[in-house]
Amino acid sequence: MQATEPDTPNRRHGGWSTRKKDKAPRGVRRYSAGAWGIRYACGAGHFHKESIGPVKGDAISAYHKRRLRVQTEPGWCPQIEAAQQRALAEAARAKEAARVTFRDFAADYLQWAKTHKRSWKTNAGQIKAATAVFGDTRSSTRLPQATLNAFATRCWPRSRNLPVIGTGTC
Ligand SMILES: [Zn+2]
Repeated sequence: MQATEPDTPNRRHGGWSTRKKDKAPRGVRRYSAGAWGIRYACGAGHFHKESIGPVKGDAISAYHKRRLRVQTEPGWCPQIEAAQQRALAEAARAKEAARVTFRDFAADYLQWAKTHKRSWKTNAGQIKAATAVFGDTRSSTRLPQATLNAFATRCWPRSRNLPVIGTGTC
């Protein structure tokens, strides 16, 4: 690790050594000019190297933060943690994609209403207005009734309730 320390000649000024002091505490190294990094053993027993930045103090505090996690969370490993977070994010994305937008839901509903409801033309106008506002809203079931009612009250003050947008519920 000595090779990573810059080879500074021993300069003197007024009897004092002007040699830059790059002594770093345990686990903290200057990996390249201007970049401090840390090295530590995780809870799973790997050695991890991490480049922190140009400020030595940041590297020192980062080293202590990692060490604290190793000591307080048995088996903690940043690599395993990152993999778990990636899996969680992937699951959340998949769940979001599975949810249907209000626009698609409303189109299905209208299709149903045309064959089952004589008043479907009234609903069609209401749904068109609601779609302009909620079209991209996704829901695994349907928009909360309170949200729809608030919207209906604003748009149609006289008819205070929008029909429940959901197959078979009107
Ligand atoms: Zn590890």
